[in-house]
Amino acid sequence: LFSAKDAGKARFKRYNRVMQEHSRWRLDIESAALQALKRDEFSIVYQPVFDLRQGPDAPPVAVEALLRWRHNGDSIPPRAFIPVLEESGEIIPVSYWVIEQVCHQVRSWQLDGWHHLIGSVNLSVPQLREPDFARRLQQIIVEAGLAPDKLVLELTESMLINQSDNALPVVRELVAMGVQVALDDFGTGYSSLGYLNRFPLQIIKLDRTFLKHAHQDEQQGAICRAIIRLCDSLGLAVVAEGIEHDEQLGFLVGEQCYLGQGYLLSKPQPAAAITQWLHNGVRGPAARSKEARIET
Ligand code: C2E
Ligand code: MG
Ligand code: MG
Ligand code: MG
Repeated sequence: LFSAKDAGKARFKRYNRVMQEHSRWRLDIESAALQALKRDEFSIVYQPVFDLRQGPDAPPVAVEALLRWRHNGDSIPPRAFIPVLEESGEIIPVSYWVIEQVCHQVRSWQLDGWHHLIGSVNLSVPQLREPDFARRLQQIIVEAGLAPDKLVLELTESMLINQSDNALPVVRELVAMGVQVALDDFGTGYSSLGYLNRFPLQIIKLDRTFLKHAHQDEQQGAICRAIIRLCDSLGLAVVAEGIEHDEQLGFLVGEQCYLGQGYLLSKPQPAAAITQWLHNGVRGPAARSKEARIET
C-alpha cells in the first residue's frame, strides 16, 4: 500500500517529469524561434478592417498585419513565440522584416486599385527602445513609396506604462513623421484615461472582450458606448476588434462606431488571398460571414 508520503512523492515525480518536458519544449521552441527568420519560417497574414457603414463591395479601409510561424509542420501562435523573440532581442530584425513586407505589400495594393488602403503593424517594447527606430522606419516607408499616414503603428497600454518616460518622446517622433499611432487592446490593461491625453494617439482599438456582450449586457454596452463617445469627442478614431456576430455589428453601427474587424467580416489571410479579393471585387458581408469563423 502507498503511504500518503509515497503518493506525494509519486505525484511530485510526475509533476517534475511534466515540468521537465515542458521546459525541454520551451528550450526547443526558443532556439527554433531564433532561427526562424533565417529559415524563412515566418509569414504574414492580413486581417481587413472595414468601414461598417459601407456596402458589400467596398474595399477594406485598412489591413492589420499578423505574424505567423510555421515550424516542423506546426503553426505556433504569436502569444507563444513573440515573448521569446522579445526576450532575446530577435524581435528587432523580425519586426523590421514585417514592416518592410507590409509597406511594400500595402503600396502594391494601392497601386493595384485600393488607393487609400492603410497598413497596420503591431509593435513591441524593444522596438521603442531602439535609438534608431524612427529613422529606419522612415527609410523603409520612403523606399516603399508609401505615404506615412498610410501606416499605423499599434502599441499596447503595457508598453506605455512600463516605460512611459521613454515611450513618449518616441511616439512623438513617430507622429511627427506623419505615421498614425493606435492604442491596441484598449480596455484590457490599465486603461488609464491619462494615456488618451498624454500620448499623441490617433486611433483606439477597442478590445474584443469589451464588445463580446455589449449587445446583450447593459453594463458592457454602457461601457462601450462611453468609450466610443469619449474617443469621438477627443477626435480619436475607434476600431472595434473581434466582431464575431451580427448583433455586435448592429450594436456598433447603432453607436456610430464605424470601423471594425473580426471573423464575421474576414479572418486574417495571406497576401495572395487578399489580392484575389481585390481582383474579384470584395464580396458582401453575407458571403464574408460564411467563411468567417475559421481561424488561420
Ligand atoms: P492583436 O494585435 O490584438 O491582434 C488581434 C488578434 O485577434 C489576432 O490574433 C487575430 O487573429 C485575432 N482575431 C481577429 N478577429 C477575431 C475575432 O473575431 N475573434 C477572435 N476571438 N479573435 C480575433 P493573433 O494573430 O493570434 O495575434 C495575437 C497577438 O499577437 C496580436 O494581438 C498582437 O498583439 C501579437 N502579434 C501578432 N503579430 C505581431 C507582430 O508582427 N509583431 C508584434 N510585436 N506582435 C504581434
Ligand atoms: Mg493589433
Ligand atoms: Mg488587439
Ligand atoms: Mg491583442
